[in-house]
Amino acid sequence: MPKNRVCYFHDAETIGSFYYGPGHPMKPHRLQMTHNLVLAYGLYKKMQCFRPHLATDEELVQFHAEDYVDFIRRVTPDNSTDFAKQLQKFTVGEDCPVFDGLYDYCRVYTGGSLDGAMKLNHGLADVAINWAGGLHHAKRSEASGFCYINDIVLAILELLKYHARVLYLDIDIHHGDGVEEAFYSTERVMTVSFHKYGDYFFPGTGDVKDVGVKNGKYYSVNVPLKTGITDDSYQKIFVPVMQKVMEMYRPGALVLQCGADSLAGDRLGCFNLSERGHSEAVRHMLGYNLPTLVLGGGGYTIRNVARCWTAETAVVLGEQIADDLPYNDYNEYYAPDFSLNVTPNASMENSNTRQYLDSIKQQVHENLRMLQGAPGVAMEQLPPNLELPPEPEADPDARGGGGSSSAPQHPAEHYDDD
Ligand SMILES: [Zn+2]
Repeated sequence: MPKNRVCYFHDAETIGSFYYGPGHPMKPHRLQMTHNLVLAYGLYKKMQCFRPHLATDEELVQFHAEDYVDFIRRVTPDNSTDFAKQLQKFTVGEDCPVFDGLYDYCRVYTGGSLDGAMKLNHGLADVAINWAGGLHHAKRSEASGFCYINDIVLAILELLKYHARVLYLDIDIHHGDGVEEAFYSTERVMTVSFHKYGDYFFPGTGDVKDVGVKNGKYYSVNVPLKTGITDDSYQKIFVPVMQKVMEMYRPGALVLQCGADSLAGDRLGCFNLSERGHSEAVRHMLGYNLPTLVLGGGGYTIRNVARCWTAETAVVLGEQIADDLPYNDYNEYYAPDFSLNVTPNASMENSNTRQYLDSIKQQVHENLRMLQGAPGVAMEQLPPNLELPPEPEADPDARGGGGSSSAPQHPAEHYDDD
């Protein structure tokens, strides 16, 4: 089987130095650590590495409100007192602080996801990776959960120009609420989220009963899980659910949000997955051999985030890498074991009983059975404020588009494909 052609987006100049502020759990530095491990393992030699373009306002307003994008562009730590009203309206300030370079940060992480979607659309890659992306909580006019601009929604809108149906899968420990909400009433995107649910865990949405509305009814899939889930338990529910999803939906492209806060020992999370269990989900999805956009997301024990996303870069490339970490710029973070492995906590209780997982699996299967027959093609109603691109007419899954497309292209700077 030919190996995947992989495009990888990373802005080594800037992305690692954005700083949410002292004590804030979201640390873009984890992206520089991940990239450094990718370099140290030599994985960069096996893929095309690009510096992403900066997303433009015109691109951002394809989903977000203009006044919200204006605000994100203009607000700084120095002038934020002039924006008291907007800070409140757009819920910026606490979880989602105003920090230096906020607008450029949003443009870089969004640019990488858009560039990835365009590479896939034009048949220039089989898989595109943007670990800086995956900010799944952002809403049309609202920052949420450390997310400001929803790069995922924007990348999916790009993929919809070439694909009749796009599948979004979210394995972050938090419910993928922003993406689900954006596509809640359309059948052109199926969103699937595996997440911790209950005990007031953020963001509080994602009940198994939430399945979508109108044309999108049964096209939102939620798999609520409990604290302490292990690799084994996760695999037991993930595989049958995703097999059924793929069988019923038959998407033309995949978007994977690989939030690493579902790993054991996460500062904000409460699951008990190793990096192997986490990347097994990615491996499974790559097995469907569809154009795939691989994104980051949450992840707050940063040494484990770097471990996990490096392991998953290797999985995408079909490369075996040693468990012993190669010497790298952030070696001291990986003491005392200097290993790629994220070790589960052996004494943590798994609250997901077999009966619980079986019952969730059964409910999800019952919801998916409602999709019996061919997935709908008619687009009667668009979600409010979200102009979906017209459905591609002939051969929706064809790659390339024969050069007749007017889809905007952005020259991504090619800095290292050694
Ligand atoms: Zn998360």
